[in-house]
Amino acid sequence: MRHSLSTNTGDFMGFEHLMSFVADRDEPCPMCEYSLRGLTEPCCPECGAALELRVGSPQLRVGPWAVAMVSFALGLGFDGVVSALMIVALAVNPTAKWEPIGIASGFVVLTGVMVLGLIRIARSRSAWTRCPVHTQRIQAAAVFVSVGVLHAVVGAAFFLVVS
Ligand SMILES: [Zn+2]
Repeated sequence: MRHSLSTNTGDFMGFEHLMSFVADRDEPCPMCEYSLRGLTEPCCPECGAALELRVGSPQLRVGPWAVAMVSFALGLGFDGVVSALMIVALAVNPTAKWEPIGIASGFVVLTGVMVLGLIRIARSRSAWTRCPVHTQRIQAAAVFVSVGVLHAVVGAAFFLVVS
């Protein structure tokens, strides 16, 4: 076969593979789940969605990485709101006591840690997908537990300060 095949020919070849793949399989349309058995065009006969045959990888799951993202995002949401409320309260009602200032500072630091964690996880998407799925799940669980334990420890420290 010559290498001067046009892109259109390449697409047609891909469609040939798709047609032979679904020729005797009840493979569902990824959009509407209509059976694509005996497909004659590169689109779903039911919903009209364009179709293509692809090579996939089970490592490309978004779940574990999303759990890690959500762990930091939840922490950021909580710490950010508490920080903002405490800063506003201290601005409205200034105090010389170190406890409220210390606790507000603690929440600002926690917010910063959550932002850094979120950025780190967001940037490591391709590194996650290069790991086996079980490793990705362990990493996600480790992030979730670490964020929880960090908040439990800091919360306990604040409780001891206040009481
Ligand atoms: Zn369809």
